[in-house]
Amino acid sequence: MSSDGFSGTIFRGRRRGVLIALSSPSGAGKTTLSKRLLSQNPDVVLSISCTTRKPRPGEINGQDYDFISVEEFKKRIDDGYFFEWAEVFGRYYGTPKTPVMEAIDEGRDVIFDIDWQGAQIIADQAPEDTVRIFILPPSLALLEDRLRKRGQDSDEVIRDRMNRAKDEISHWDEYDYVIVNDDFARALEKLNQALHAERLKRNRHPWLGEFVDALMEQ
Ligand code: 5GP
Repeated sequence: MSSDGFSGTIFRGRRRGVLIALSSPSGAGKTTLSKRLLSQNPDVVLSISCTTRKPRPGEINGQDYDFISVEEFKKRIDDGYFFEWAEVFGRYYGTPKTPVMEAIDEGRDVIFDIDWQGAQIIADQAPEDTVRIFILPPSLALLEDRLRKRGQDSDEVIRDRMNRAKDEISHWDEYDYVIVNDDFARALEKLNQALHAERLKRNRHPWLGEFVDALMEQ
């Protein structure tokens, strides 16, 4: 079946892409899930944010983020470059507008690895095009365990991250789909199902009106 679910019809127009705002507390598996979703779906692209924070070891400029200076970030705000932007933990983060708009018009979906605030702004900016998906860990103990296994962080940092995780989780009911990541393969399957259901929605197929008109004339 084609990615829009309408293959086999006589007439097929281009669908509008879906903006997928994917959030979770850190350590719940969101990044791994989004990477797998991307590799399984050629029509899905990842939105690369700009940030003023420094790259962490292993992070690649232009791939993980577009790492820019505060001055450059502020200039881009003034130029209307961003679809949304926010100050998170004293650093600026923002989503470039043009790639997002081009992708949805071309029928490609865009995935945003973003916190609840960013997800809310994206949904406000493009309510018809956005779907919000939240990934929950099966337990807080598991989340803490995953954060500890990442290594480097002191007890204090872990405590801080756990508090932030709880804050993020408290926004779960603002999301359209909530997936508990107790089993990676199952969570990935649910994520794919949510995406495919969203792609089928009537308003994502602007060509349907014309199709029905032609159908009725037959
Ligand atoms: P980190 O510095 O750990 O990569 O990200 C810190 C936080 O910033 C995360 O919660 C992440 O979701 C959020 N973030 C990353 N990119 C953006 C963005 O473009 N816009 C907003 N609003 N938040 C972002």
